[in-house]
Amino acid sequence: MIDNSQRNIDYLRISITDRCNERCLYCMPDGFHAWKEREEILSYEEIIEVVRVAVRLGFRKFRVTGGEPLVRRDVVEFIARLIGTPGVEHVGLSTNATRLRGLATDLARAGLRHANVSLDAIDPEIYRRVTGGRVQEVIDGIDAALRAGISRIKLNAVLMRGVNEEQLWPLIDFAAERQLPIRFIELMPVTFTEVLNDTNFFPIAEAKRLIAERTLLIPETAQLGFGPATYYRAPELGISVGFIGAMTNLHFCDTCTKMRLTADGKIRPCLGNHEEVDLQPALRPHLNVRFIEELFVEALRRKPAEHSFRDQYQPGRVMTAIGG
Ligand code: SF4
Repeated sequence: MIDNSQRNIDYLRISITDRCNERCLYCMPDGFHAWKEREEILSYEEIIEVVRVAVRLGFRKFRVTGGEPLVRRDVVEFIARLIGTPGVEHVGLSTNATRLRGLATDLARAGLRHANVSLDAIDPEIYRRVTGGRVQEVIDGIDAALRAGISRIKLNAVLMRGVNEEQLWPLIDFAAERQLPIRFIELMPVTFTEVLNDTNFFPIAEAKRLIAERTLLIPETAQLGFGPATYYRAPELGISVGFIGAMTNLHFCDTCTKMRLTADGKIRPCLGNHEEVDLQPALRPHLNVRFIEELFVEALRRKPAEHSFRDQYQPGRVMTAIGG
């Protein structure tokens, strides 16, 4: 355990639903149906109360995640409220973008400018194999968002050997065509299925080497975003390429400033650690702001120095229930 008072933890990822309209290989087990009952999921009102407490404790950056956040009703109104909450300085959205096309204009009108989009393949058949979805919907969603003014889009790709590794360059070409940053992410043990193993693990060092064989990569000096990605400028392509090496980068967690709020009201100090603090007793049946704050402070205190992914970590909940 580290002294978290020395860490500037100011970034809260808010999962507003554990549901997803897709079924990514690395995220959700086959046949999974154990969604939380509706009443267990925090209402938007409750989430905003938690955000107000977080702001009082120094949080300034917020990201709306799921599951897939755009499947929840009235998500645009929620994002508008979040953006308008005093003390909130930055709001981003993490989405699979399959529903983005229809919502892009309203989200932009609500004030959203930042979105991270999961895109694991450009080839329709490979995309379908990895996520179960249709890549054209994602592409249309990205283009609609850019047209609407959601201009700060980052692409996130999880590479798996023997599954979508050949999509490395098609993904980079797609990012370069639209001048968007792209990040390659190592598979993490975040699902119940036996997804991560020696045969399909694709280290980001290999991705970086393959890219560097064909184009110049220069370390970025400026900080891009608030996450643990290491960025390089690819001047010949005009884009930044990021690498998120949760498994192989031994300093991955050194600069972590984030915590998660799960859709069912638990503060999770670290993605790769089972520790959670349940806020529901402070929210129901009566809202007790001071109690929320006490529990939040307790969660901050319990934030580990780093994840446990390298210690035979076994996930206790599916990724969609934790918040991506
Ligand atoms: S694994 Fe945990 S400590 Fe490491 S960067 Fe992610 S949330 Fe932070």
